[in-house]
Amino acid sequence: MPEISIVIPVYNEEDNLYPLISAIFASMDSVKREYEVIFVNDGSTDNSFEILKKLACENANIKIVNFDANYGLTAAIDAGFKASSGDIIVSLDADLQNDPADIPKMLDGVKDYDMVCGWRHKRDDPLTKRVSSVIANYIRNKVSNEHVTDSACTLKAFRRQCLDKIKLYGGLHRFLPTLFKMEGFSVTEVKVNHHPRTKGKSKFNIRNRMFTSFLDLLAVAWMKKRHLDYKLKK
Ligand code: UDP
Ligand code: MG
Repeated sequence: MPEISIVIPVYNEEDNLYPLISAIFASMDSVKREYEVIFVNDGSTDNSFEILKKLACENANIKIVNFDANYGLTAAIDAGFKASSGDIIVSLDADLQNDPADIPKMLDGVKDYDMVCGWRHKRDDPLTKRVSSVIANYIRNKVSNEHVTDSACTLKAFRRQCLDKIKLYGGLHRFLPTLFKMEGFSVTEVKVNHHPRTKGKSKFNIRNRMFTSFLDLLAVAWMKKRHLDYKLKK
């Protein structure tokens, strides 16, 4: 049984998969613990699935979950979590914007916390995306009375026993730190690298994020407010 599961959502990332897996192997070499890599192919229409099949044939610790259509990032992450068997789960993007070299740091953090959330402190994205992300995090924190700097960073590490208690709905991958805290679990943030996307295209922009993310935020704020926090009398 692997101790660590690395979960990666993949939607049309054919040019990123070989460099990504090499970077993961290089990073995990220093960790010296059993691990598996779970790629979730979220209905890619390019060659991603063929490449993943080849990688899985060549490496016993690579697994594929294959969707029959594109269901979105939260669904892909959720399916990866469910297919994983490690006590520690690390999620990261497939496009090398998250840096696999940060995985050991995430594993260190999760020794003391139930969840470690990456914080892309030097975010290397176009200006519009950086500005919209700062605004989104500000509004997210204000409305849900939260204090997370970069809650949408996919690079995160979780303890399985906690993650198993979280129910995800579409879009809620952005709110995992809040969902964890609501259940009384501990969360910390660590600064992580961030690189520009050099291959393939970003799937998110202000238009397709702003409105739905705001509705998601209202749902999470409501859940937080109405969370049942009763205690028994001693
Ligand atoms: N992704 C996915 N399904 C989607 C959209 C994105 O699995 O419907 C994956 C994508 O392949 C990448 C990660 O989610 O691994 C983050 O997507 P992207 O890099 O496009 O987001 P950005 O960094 O631009 O916010
Ligand atoms: Mg990206």
